[in-house]
Amino acid sequence: MWHAADLSEKLRHAATGYHFTGITSPKFDWATFKPQRDAYIRKLNTIYENNLSRENVEYHSGFAKLISSDTVQVTRPDGQSTYLLRADNICIATGGRPTIPSDEIIPGASKGIDSDGFFALEEQPKRVAVIGAGYIAVELAGVLNALGSETHLFIRGQKVLRTFDQDVQDTLTPWMEHTGVRMHKGTMVTRVEGDRGGPLTVHTSKGEKVTVDLVLWAIGRQANTEGIGLEDVGVAMNDKRDIVVDEYQNTNVPGIVSIGDVQGKALLTPVAIAAGRRLANRLFGPERFKEDKLDYANVPTVVFAFVFFFFSFFGGLCDGSDFFFPFRHPTVGTVGLTEAQARAKYGDAVKICNVPPPMPSPFVPLFSSSLYLENFRPIQIQSTVFFHDRRGSQRAYYVQTRRRRT
Ligand SMILES: Cc1cc2nc3c(=O)[nH]c(=O)nc-3n(C[C@H](O)[C@H](O)[C@H](O)COP(=O)(O)OP(=O)(O)OC[C@H]3O[C@@H](n4cnc5c(N)ncnc54)[C@H](O)[C@@H]3O)c2cc1C
Repeated sequence: MWHAADLSEKLRHAATGYHFTGITSPKFDWATFKPQRDAYIRKLNTIYENNLSRENVEYHSGFAKLISSDTVQVTRPDGQSTYLLRADNICIATGGRPTIPSDEIIPGASKGIDSDGFFALEEQPKRVAVIGAGYIAVELAGVLNALGSETHLFIRGQKVLRTFDQDVQDTLTPWMEHTGVRMHKGTMVTRVEGDRGGPLTVHTSKGEKVTVDLVLWAIGRQANTEGIGLEDVGVAMNDKRDIVVDEYQNTNVPGIVSIGDVQGKALLTPVAIAAGRRLANRLFGPERFKEDKLDYANVPTVVFAFVFFFFSFFGGLCDGSDFFFPFRHPTVGTVGLTEAQARAKYGDAVKICNVPPPMPSPFVPLFSSSLYLENFRPIQIQSTVFFHDRRGSQRAYYVQTRRRRT
């Protein structure tokens, strides 16, 4: 969907700047694109299943529940029959699911959909309310806006991506508004009125009433830890009900390990894969891998924030591990500490540098350089670089394109 939205944006805003003619009013046909996209996903599912059987992995389809520290009960997809599987090692990787507030807390909330519902949409909504300020809200609002839906984004604070570096928030928030996303800042949704499928009116703490065709909640995710026997077997969870693991992915129950979103750290696909690889190495690999584990520091992440080209690197301590993929098409890309975290950790050792040297206006990437000014995508380069000085003390330098005090 992001690529469709990217194409739409380029056709509408960049094609003329690059002197393409004949592109007047391109329209995206969601209803015919969706089955094509789904078919590709099904193909991927088949490829993964084939890879498993090629590697002689026994694949069981059903709902798994722990019965003891070495036994799992599988309920077949028919929901009726069950059988038991025993193993020396059990890995819990049940992932997470989106959160939607209950109707008791926000009346009518259940009339909205979540990110899973977004991918199930057969038609493009004409008007949509996206609620949330995290990367999923930012990505989905950006895609819908770029594809032509009237998009309202409701955020509790004043900026999006509140857990990211301040400069990411400061640059992205006004840019999203510039591209047409109608931002409702400092706003809590208090009620959703109407019938699912028909017009819905979103009521807010500021007394606004916004009528849309679709309400999309993107306010967070929770681990899939219910009903899988964790309490019965004594697997420890934290107050958010994420499974608690040590640095080797061990739970407190010998023989039970956990990886991926369900253990609540760095909720990203390549992270789950990297943790799984190291875990498999440690449990089943040769002696040299017996201490193998994933280092969760400096995990790079990108946010497919739409029509926005931001490229930042925080931290120079990446170990070249297999989840450190090259940023092929990043919109926001970060790794390592935010400036605030760097300052909290290194205090006065953090120096702000500028690359290239201070400029009167923002750096313009080559893609945008021949376009009209209003269609420039902002770009910023930031980096926190750590190194040891001659005396052996660790120094942190924060490098960025804009002039800042040092
Ligand atoms: C909208 C959205 C966009 C995202 N974009 C990105 C992105 O761009 N890049 C990125 O790296 N990450 C992204 N993520 C996060 C990424 O999807 C997760 O980090 C990743 O899927 C975690 O993998 P996992 O194996 O832990 O869990 P999952 O992928 O959720 O897999 C868990 C599986 O376990 C199954 N399961 C659950 N309970 C049971 C049970 N009791 N018995 C049997 N099976 C069970 C589930 O059905 C599911 O198939 C995105 C997530 C969302 C929602």
